[in-house]
Amino acid sequence: MKKTTCKNLRGACDAEIQGATAEEMGENSKKHVMEMVNSGDEAHKAAMESMMQLSQEDQHKWYEDFKQGFNALPEA
Ligand SMILES: [Zn+2]
Repeated sequence: MKKTTCKNLRGACDAEIQGATAEEMGENSKKHVMEMVNSGDEAHKAAMESMMQLSQEDQHKWYEDFKQGFNALPEA
């Protein structure tokens, strides 16, 4: 299990996000951001909007970089 922070995943806070795989971590991060957005958090809303403004290509590139860096993340 690896860990990182919401901020490192283009989020807006220092909440810890864990995952056994890059995919799982991505899902957990999305869940966290959605929860924050649903509770009315403007910072996470802005972070989500900035991610959605990236082109498909840039989003894909970001995700590839994230997957490549996954193994270097600290153990949870
Ligand atoms: Zn967060």
